Amino acid sequence: MTVRLYYQDPFLFHFKARVLSCRAEGAGYAVELDRTCFYPEGGGQPTDQGTLGGRRVLAVREEKERVLHLLDGPLEAEEAEGLVDEARRRDHMEQHTGQHLLSAAFLAAIGTPTVSMRIGELDCTIDLTRPALSEEEADQAEDLVNRVIREDRPIHCFYPSLDELETLTLRKTPQVDENIRVVRVEGFDNSPCCGTHCPSTGRVGMVKLRRWEHYKGMTRVTFLCGNRALADYRWKNRAVNRLAETFSVRDQGMEAKVRALADDHVEAVRALRRSRADLLRHEARGLLEAAPRLAGGLALVVHRLGDGHGIEELKVLAEALVKEPAVVFLGGAGGERSSLLFARGAAVAPDMSVLLKASVGPFGGKGGGNPVQAQGGVAGEHLDAVLAAARAKLQGG
Ligand SMILES: [Zn+2]
Repeated sequence: MTVRLYYQDPFLFHFKARVLSCRAEGAGYAVELDRTCFYPEGGGQPTDQGTLGGRRVLAVREEKERVLHLLDGPLEAEEAEGLVDEARRRDHMEQHTGQHLLSAAFLAAIGTPTVSMRIGELDCTIDLTRPALSEEEADQAEDLVNRVIREDRPIHCFYPSLDELETLTLRKTPQVDENIRVVRVEGFDNSPCCGTHCPSTGRVGMVKLRRWEHYKGMTRVTFLCGNRALADYRWKNRAVNRLAETFSVRDQGMEAKVRALADDHVEAVRALRRSRADLLRHEARGLLEAAPRLAGGLALVVHRLGDGHGIEELKVLAEALVKEPAVVFLGGAGGERSSLLFARGAAVAPDMSVLLKASVGPFGGKGGGNPVQAQGGVAGEHLDAVLAAARAKLQGG
């Protein structure tokens, strides 16, 4: 049974211990000590890391009563010095304690329990038993949790007797039957938990909700505590300030500014599309006038649009051209990946789908459609050759 020093003092990051065993495991070594400050993954809190006897501690896990340290190399000495990655652990304590407070706040403010939690490398989540959450409800919980933080209430952990346990209102059901450890936030929350926590609510600093979304009939809330919340505020504040400077507005005016820009953009794209279509229709008239006539007076228009053009422009050209009953249009557009569109007027016979398939096939292209119009694609380097092959087939027939 390993003595867990992190329960006696969660701020003890440096210790000495006797090495009880060291065995090869996977790519590393599993080490058991008589006592440890390393917190093993559990209760939603991620594993501690650090060094032990000069080796790197990659992960720590529980095996019944023992704590096993997974190292990148073997330990030979009988005694080893352990150094827990303090910043990482302090961060986990802030996130974990903040999660207790936030779950208790959601319960107190809007009556919604938490069913699961996760402390990730970047952010944390809780799942609430409700399908939706309004901004007002989220604000209520966020206001309450931050008020409790500012009140700097004491937090302590204890192991109640079974009699005492019956008198307690626990926020969630314990996962073990005996030696239940309760984390108490004075006057606010009692929760069974095996993690490490801050000694008072003020140490959490702040809890900030980032976003929430519907998740399997529940609401998944993503949040950040302590330094993570500060870091998040910092980058967002910088981004908003830089953008506000770029657009010469106050930061509070940025959202309205961006929405207005987005609307302008949509309108500009529509106007550009209309102008391009006008130009293409104009171009279609010129192409038709210059087109050679085949047998029966059929006008053959073969045209390639350059880079930056695609199937949409070919469709506009085709639509304008095939108003003429005796026309066949063989169109190509684009650069590396190119598009093809073949279309004909109502008074001529060639099957465009058959023609397109037969023309792109030898060049590894694909396509299909109906007798009147077909579209496809081929590698840009073969586009001219495909158009020439189709033209030859039409002229030959
Ligand atoms: Zn906890």
